[in-house]
Amino acid sequence: MQLTNNRYHLSNGIDPLELVEKYGTPLYVYDTAIIERQYRLMEGSFAVPKLKINYACKANTNINILKVLKNLGAGLDAVSVQEVELGILAGFAPQDIMFTPNCVALDEINAALKLGVRINIDSISILEQFGMEHPHVPVGIRINPHIMAGGNDKISTGHVDSKFGISIHQLPHVFKVIETTGIHIDGLHMHTGSDILDANVFLLAVDILMNVAKNFKYLEYVDFGSGFKVPYREGDIETDLEEVGARISERFNEFCKDYGRELTLIFEPGKFLVSQAGYFFVRANVVKPTPSTVFIGVDSGLNHLIRPMFYNSYHRIENMSGPNGKPRIYTVVGYICETDTFGTNRKIANVEEGDILCLFNAGAYGFAMASNYNSRFRPAEVMVHEGRDYLIRKRETMKDILKNQVEVRFEETVTVES
Ligand SMILES: *Cc1c(COP(=O)(O)O)cnc(C)c1O
Repeated sequence: MQLTNNRYHLSNGIDPLELVEKYGTPLYVYDTAIIERQYRLMEGSFAVPKLKINYACKANTNINILKVLKNLGAGLDAVSVQEVELGILAGFAPQDIMFTPNCVALDEINAALKLGVRINIDSISILEQFGMEHPHVPVGIRINPHIMAGGNDKISTGHVDSKFGISIHQLPHVFKVIETTGIHIDGLHMHTGSDILDANVFLLAVDILMNVAKNFKYLEYVDFGSGFKVPYREGDIETDLEEVGARISERFNEFCKDYGRELTLIFEPGKFLVSQAGYFFVRANVVKPTPSTVFIGVDSGLNHLIRPMFYNSYHRIENMSGPNGKPRIYTVVGYICETDTFGTNRKIANVEEGDILCLFNAGAYGFAMASNYNSRFRPAEVMVHEGRDYLIRKRETMKDILKNQVEVRFEETVTVES
């Protein structure tokens, strides 16, 4: 979002305040020009003959966002059979969808298999069961290289205590399962965790996976997962894609030469593709000075954007209504009856009650993690695409809150007397 002449605007000059006027607050807005920018940036950073970018859709599953990514040429990474179904509804070809679940039962994997998608297996137990049932279906396996990476404990998935993947130390067991079931492993996968800050850590994991790959005869692809970092605050380090891309490509091309076959290099970014494309607009309900702090209470909370409370993540906050006002120090909080702080001691242009604030980097794990806690409605979603705005999810109503509740008719209960 650009600031010119005391006004913010989205791509094609669209004024976010007009969107707020039209659709109300709280409001998620996604600017597809930024999704395209990120996709092209990623696509251009790897010099390998066969590259596939699978959008990890758990970051944002609005079907229109899926369609935008499909039209850009992306495949899909799905972590539940419901995400697989959404992907198919959005128009992805089943062979362009990778199902990468963790700790699901064989039934769910079988359901995904019926839909024709690629399967990535996360445990030896499931590999064994799947291999006995479908020895002729090629599958990928998720390897845990035991690299400590990731912005925080909850999203760090590659370390030794992690529940994800098959440990590299269990490879002898994997080969036993291959031998006894005859199962065909056509891909290796790793996803060490989100927010990889250090390119060297990532490259170390790449090296480990390449060394493992030598031991598999029938590989068609290697999938390095995600972890590409986007800046959340000014001065944040961003994954240097150009550098990482060049180094991974070199290592990968070298490997393929030794291996004797041109494999597909797959990545599955979520956040990198959609985080910066999303903005979350809220209204300042109250400005509340206390002895130590000036709070701004907004018409949203952890029910709509849980990342600051769940991950301690930083989201830049700006005053859209008066961006050039005198900056003051505020703590921005939600209206939920829990401590739901969006930002502590932030310098924000002077805020009046009724002003519209924007939380940046709201395109990934924003709406996707929203709930109805405190019986609040989930926000509406708007997509800005090629100069036009589209409502892509209606704001909820009381009907949604009650939708699946089954009311017992207490007045009809008969009391049996003895
Ligand atoms: C969540 C997830 C991703 C995407 O992670 P980001 O940090 O959003 O890029 C990729 N692959 C798998 C298997 C995941 O579970």
